Amino acid sequence: MFAGPLEYFHNPIEVYFCMIVKSEKKKIGKMACNSATCQSGCYGDEHSVDEDDQKRPPVQEDGVSAGGGNFNCDGLCIKCKVNETIAATHPAVSEGGGDRGRFCADCFRSNLFGKFRFAVTSNAMISSSDNVLVAFSGGPSSRVALQFVHEMQQKAQKNFEASRDRLLPVFGVGVAYIDESTIYPVSSHDYDGAINQMKLIVASLAPPAKQFFVVPTQSIYSHDSTDGKDRLTELFGAVSDITGKEDLQVHLRMLSLQKVALENGYTKVVMGTCTSQIACHVLEATVKGQGFSLAADIQYVDARWKIPVVLPLRDCLSEELNMCCILDSLKTVEAFQRPRSGINGLISSFVKLLQEENPSRESTIVRTAGKLTPFCFNRIPEVGDNNGCLATKRRQKKYNLKPSESLPPESYCLICNNPLKKPNGTSSNHFHDGRASSEIYASTCSSCQYQILPKDPTLLENFFLLLPQSMTTLAKDSRDNHKLLRDQIQDCLLSDSDDGA
Ligand SMILES: [Zn+2]
Ligand SMILES: [Zn+2]
Repeated sequence: MFAGPLEYFHNPIEVYFCMIVKSEKKKIGKMACNSATCQSGCYGDEHSVDEDDQKRPPVQEDGVSAGGGNFNCDGLCIKCKVNETIAATHPAVSEGGGDRGRFCADCFRSNLFGKFRFAVTSNAMISSSDNVLVAFSGGPSSRVALQFVHEMQQKAQKNFEASRDRLLPVFGVGVAYIDESTIYPVSSHDYDGAINQMKLIVASLAPPAKQFFVVPTQSIYSHDSTDGKDRLTELFGAVSDITGKEDLQVHLRMLSLQKVALENGYTKVVMGTCTSQIACHVLEATVKGQGFSLAADIQYVDARWKIPVVLPLRDCLSEELNMCCILDSLKTVEAFQRPRSGINGLISSFVKLLQEENPSRESTIVRTAGKLTPFCFNRIPEVGDNNGCLATKRRQKKYNLKPSESLPPESYCLICNNPLKKPNGTSSNHFHDGRASSEIYASTCSSCQYQILPKDPTLLENFFLLLPQSMTTLAKDSRDNHKLLRDQIQDCLLSDSDDGA
């Protein structure tokens, strides 16, 4: 149950690290010590094998290596062996855990960008014809995502200008901020200041110019914003559970992103979700009973949406991203950042504690959950033309990926769009007023039932009417699309009798 086709999502990273380890070893030569007790981070043999999460980088406390500092007694970067480590050049920087004691700023940065670029290329996240929308919250993770996507675009632009035939277009980039001030009000002074800061950040990126969208959550309702505001406020008022409110906010955020992407011709949504956030999500989903759908949320690609969502920072830790912002003086916007609450808040502080005790905990949690088999929509959908197919096949060969074999889920939760375990038997074509409450109950996952839906069945129908229509039609659309896909795949599968003959 925990093994299977997911291996391909795991292996490229292992391969990547093995490559780094090998090249590092070549450079380090005899300096690499093979002692089993060495905690120097010198890339001895212990790091090249793994699967088992026992043999991981040294245990560290307070961001300082516990290895006694024997790894860089000269204070030089273990990679380039020339520059001083970040700890030496930026003594005030407390972020970054062990990395600050191992790498110089340049090597740290190129490592981080390397992780991003590898995730993008090995999962075909961005192609030259794409128009990508970066979801920007103002926080460090999405700030780095925006920066890296921008740098990638600039590089593509340079290549385009240098090429004679100019055949490959440069992908476009836009930025969207989802304004949730109707749900969690901020003072108009803070609000204006923060929006201005974001505009400046986007405008400061070199050309090609990037469109910046401020999208109020209520825009998912209709064009009439006052009506939308009222309904949104009423909807949140109807959710009594504090965790439920926060989860619903996350689902509406995704709907808003999908809406702005769709309306403005974007083909991918880039999220800044990093290892640390995914680690929290894994534990949260475990507590909330979302085991069946968990694998869907933690992959590099989530194409269950009309506009596929990609997570190029999936392998980066939040402390690394924080440090990158400090080292590169990337401005972040704090006004809208609020502490998480309920179950999510408890788990965030729990994971933070675990990470302080051992800096590989977050990666371990994500790697462990990564053993779950992803869904068929956890890859960029193959386009119909031959070029696309060829490219996909080449990539599958290069990274040893297996083509998707699993069938799409039959139904999705009405609220969170997570795959539902059992077909719930509701007639999928009739999401209209007057829907029986039992039907609504049957079209939602157990987590949404418990955390979000009103406990009183007589309130259910009114609650359903408060949901944005895009939510209810989305559930229907994805069911229809996937039913079509299921039928197509089913036709191609060997039946038992074919196989046995
Ligand atoms: Zn270096
Ligand atoms: Zn749900």
